[in-house]
Amino acid sequence: MRTALTIAGSDSCAGAGIQADLKTFYAHGIYGMSVITAVTAQNTKGVMAVENISSHIVEKQIDAIFCDIKVDSVKIGMLSEIDIIKAVSSKLRQYSPKNIVLDPVMISKSGYNLLNPDAKDVLIKELLPLSTVVTPNILEAQVITGINIKSIDDMKKSCKAMLEMGCKIVLIKGGHLSTDPIDILFDGEDFKYFEGKRIHTKNTHGTGCTLSSAIASNLAKGYAIEKSIKNAKEYINVAIQNSLSIGEGIGPTNHFY
Ligand code: PLP
Repeated sequence: MRTALTIAGSDSCAGAGIQADLKTFYAHGIYGMSVITAVTAQNTKGVMAVENISSHIVEKQIDAIFCDIKVDSVKIGMLSEIDIIKAVSSKLRQYSPKNIVLDPVMISKSGYNLLNPDAKDVLIKELLPLSTVVTPNILEAQVITGINIKSIDDMKKSCKAMLEMGCKIVLIKGGHLSTDPIDILFDGEDFKYFEGKRIHTKNTHGTGCTLSSAIASNLAKGYAIEKSIKNAKEYINVAIQNSLSIGEGIGPTNHFY
C-alpha cells in the first residue's frame, strides 16, 4: 500500500484542508495520514475562527508517523505561525521523505488570512528549498516574489524568481487569470504549460488543497512530476465539474461522483 501524509489545517466543513486531502488520497487508493497544524471553524461562507496547534504537538505527530510507517509522499498545506513552520521544516529535514508538495496557503477564497504575514519569510527560507514542488496560485506567487502577475510572461518571470529563491520545481496555477486558466511548471530549464477550459461554477472551495494532494498521491504512486501534475489536473477538473452546491457560499469540490 502506498502512503501519503498531509501536514495541514482542519476545515470543519471538510471542503478544504486536511479533510480534502484525506478524501483525495482515498480516491487515489493511497493510505492517507494527517498531521493537524490548526483547527479552523469554517463553512462555505467563510472562516469564523482559527486555533493553531502547538508546535510541540505538531512535532510529536510527525515523529509518531515517521518512526513507524514509511511515507511515500508528503503534502504541506496551512502552517500559520513561525514556530509551526520551523517545527515542520526541521522534522522534514530529519526524516527527508522522497516527495514533498508544498501548497503555500495564504488567504482563503472567502478572504481570511491563513498565514500570519510575519511568517511569510520563514516559510520561504525554510520550506521552499525542502520541497520537491511548490504550487502557488497567482496571488501567492505575487506575495512570494513581489512580481505583479498580469500575463503569462509575468508568470514565467515569477517562476524564475521562485527558483532563485530556492525552489527546485514550481507550478504557478493560473486560475486567477482573466482568460482560460493556464498553469506553468518550471524546473529551472524548461517551461511546461497545462492549459484548461474555465469551468463556470462558484463551488471551488478546496481546489488548491485537492490539486496539491492529488499531485502528492501521484508522486506516491511513483509517477514523475510532469505526469503527476497532468493526472492531478484531470482529477481536479472532474472534481470541480461535479462540485457540490451545499451551503450558502462557496461549495466544495466533489471527490466521489
Ligand atoms: N481552510 C484550510 C484549513 C485550508 O488549508 C485552506 C486552503 O488551503 C482553506 C481553508 C481555503 O480554501 P479555499 O481557499 O479553497 O476556500
